[in-house]
Amino acid sequence: MSELRLYDTLAREKRVFVPADPSRVTMYVCGPTVYNRAHIGNARPAVVFDVLARLLRHRYGAQNVIYARNVTDVDDKIIQSAAEQGVDPSVITARYETHYNEDMGALGVAPPDIAPHATEHVPDMVAMIARLIEAGHAYEADGHVLFDVPSDPDYGALGRRDRDAMIAGARVEVASYKKDPADFVLWKPSPEGTIGWDSPWGRGRPGWHIECSAMIERHLGESVDIHGGGLDLIFPHHENELAQSRCAHRGAPLARYWVHNGFLSMAGSEKMSKSLGNVVTVGELLERNHRPEALRLALLSAHYRQPLEWSDQLIAQSKATLDGLYRVVGDAVSEEPHHDVLGALADDLNTPLALAKLGAIKDAAVLKASASLLGLIPWTSEDWFKGRAASLSSHANLSFVSSGTLRVERGEQFIDDKITERAAAKAERDFERADRIRAELASDGVLLEDTPSGTIWRRA
Ligand code: AMP
Ligand code: ZN
Repeated sequence: MSELRLYDTLAREKRVFVPADPSRVTMYVCGPTVYNRAHIGNARPAVVFDVLARLLRHRYGAQNVIYARNVTDVDDKIIQSAAEQGVDPSVITARYETHYNEDMGALGVAPPDIAPHATEHVPDMVAMIARLIEAGHAYEADGHVLFDVPSDPDYGALGRRDRDAMIAGARVEVASYKKDPADFVLWKPSPEGTIGWDSPWGRGRPGWHIECSAMIERHLGESVDIHGGGLDLIFPHHENELAQSRCAHRGAPLARYWVHNGFLSMAGSEKMSKSLGNVVTVGELLERNHRPEALRLALLSAHYRQPLEWSDQLIAQSKATLDGLYRVVGDAVSEEPHHDVLGALADDLNTPLALAKLGAIKDAAVLKASASLLGLIPWTSEDWFKGRAASLSSHANLSFVSSGTLRVERGEQFIDDKITERAAAKAERDFERADRIRAELASDGVLLEDTPSGTIWRRA
């Protein structure tokens, strides 16, 4: 088997992948902040790292790979959204985590082995922060705990930015309680009525970066083999994770290989992001009845580090490629994937080359095995469902209909948006508008019920 080579962002070059322990290969990918529906750009890392996890399992054995992807379920945007809707943050996070799992499941993303939640690891974070203070890498100021950036001479190695760019890029508050403007928050106070935990520094909540460091330590150890996420996470998120963990672990590196995917953009614009308003969600694409395998293939059509331009034409092309593949796949029994496909993936996950090689395979069984390495086997086929349905439905709240196709509820985003709109109307005491929204939804067969923990809905 050819050597696996991965581009390591820290080294700025492709390196041969050698896990610390081939019987326990570890990968951690920063997962979603669950307060809105995932757009197709958010699906790119989920699909890319799903392919990498499949490749690792093929090389090292499924039982020898541990893949963790976290869920950020405490965050200012979640708190704000909960306040706007007059519900507990857990109502928001439960709703959007379910959506995320359904959307990624629909794209053939197998659930990670571990999906740790930030709110379940606050004691681990508190313990790590306390250690950082003890070691002289963090300090308490004005109810906050801050990481002392100048105390870490190696800070900045991952992002390789100069100091001013770092401060500007992090959009860090230049707060009076900071010793240095680059210092970042590990812990911040939470006022009564806002989600918070008791700590040695008063009632508060963690800053964003510390959760991944603490959860990696808890579930995978001081160092992981691969740490992944989108390009936008390199700085400040991964830079800060790296510094915290190294300083808390006497210099042990947080990750041996740093892997980052490039951005997906809407044709003709920049990165797809909610704030730019150029977003198409996975839910919307599925509602338009695009075959989910074609969406997955489209996401894999560019090399993961290259930009990917999303367009209807790309989806149509991907659908045509898929039809060609499925004509050959048939009901053949899976065998070992084709070595050309394995070779392409082993070269820094070259999925466009792997897809081209797939197109040349004539043997149905080999094609099937090769396509399934990319997660592209027809998902309605019996064997896929037998193997995956049980674990997916238990992990990911997917609903399966008896024919074996995934059922995606229509219009959930629409309903959620209407509920948000109604909550905003109520907050402005515009009860007429609020009642109108309720009546409109009722005429569509969607019934709202206001409960102490927020508005819930069901279909009539
Ligand atoms: P978020 O929920 O915004 O933290 O993003 C979840 C993951 O999606 C992170 O790994 C981001 O880097 C990644 N991501 C966000 N937007 C895009 C995009 N337009 N293209 C590719 N990856 C993205
Ligand atoms: Zn992270």
